[in-house]
Amino acid sequence: MYIGRFAPSPTGPLHAGSLVAALASYLDARSNRGHWLIRIEDIDEARTVASAAEHIIQTLAALGMRSDGEILWQSTRQERYNAAFNQLGNAVYACACSRREIADSRVSMASDGAAIYPGTCRHGLAPGRVPRAWRVRVPDANDSQTLIQFHDRWQGLIEENLAAHVGDFVLKRADGFWAYQLAVVVDDAEQGVTDIVRGADLLESTTRQIYLQRLLGFSTPRYLHVPAVVNDRGEKLSKQTGAQPLDVGNPIKALIEAAAHLGLTLSHTPSSVDEFWTMAILEWEQRFVRI
Ligand code: GLU
Repeated sequence: MYIGRFAPSPTGPLHAGSLVAALASYLDARSNRGHWLIRIEDIDEARTVASAAEHIIQTLAALGMRSDGEILWQSTRQERYNAAFNQLGNAVYACACSRREIADSRVSMASDGAAIYPGTCRHGLAPGRVPRAWRVRVPDANDSQTLIQFHDRWQGLIEENLAAHVGDFVLKRADGFWAYQLAVVVDDAEQGVTDIVRGADLLESTTRQIYLQRLLGFSTPRYLHVPAVVNDRGEKLSKQTGAQPLDVGNPIKALIEAAAHLGLTLSHTPSSVDEFWTMAILEWEQRFVRI
């Protein structure tokens, strides 16, 4: 049974970029006759904006996308993340380093632009140092397990050497919040998600997530990462780069624009939201399912 999901962080209203991810995940679930779930990733309370989640859920509904099961809220799941974290045992260790100390160690940059952790606290804290965050150990550079490969249904073969390009990464942050990487892996496994369809900005997180799935004994879902929507300065649309909330006054127009970004041609302009879905699901199915 296919289970897909859309997992927005409620840091602001839905915008054209997040709609593309929602649309792609919904089309893939529908064309596979599967379930589509909404999960609200409100784990980072500092970034969560009051009522943004409700706004996102309502906007999706106005466009015809409703969760096939109960909506899961990450803020309610601390115990589950804690249990997974405990299950990791010696694979995790306390780290006392500040961002500044890591930056000053002048190691190379990780694939997401962060400094690769130099491993200072890997073998225990130096005397007098206080734990701040918790990191998971990645396999050493000479260990074949450090190379993670997967096939992405849009992007093709993706591979990353965790030791060389990522380094030991944080699972529990210095501010006490669980890291996205841990929460997403625990939730996808528990919800039985078989297919993850999301924006390509998360491609570089995927190898870390596959590594955690292996450590926790979870199966790895299939992946499809759609091109991220960028603004005219080439920046990914997000609240930080000033993306405007989606105007759902004209739902068909919003849906057609998002579909065009995914390369759907739609043989004619649909006259209703229902007609849009019929056409778009069929076109998606021909492109991604019947292959
Ligand atoms: N919450 C993440 C975001 O909004 C997406 C997580 C995911 O799809 O895995 O960027």
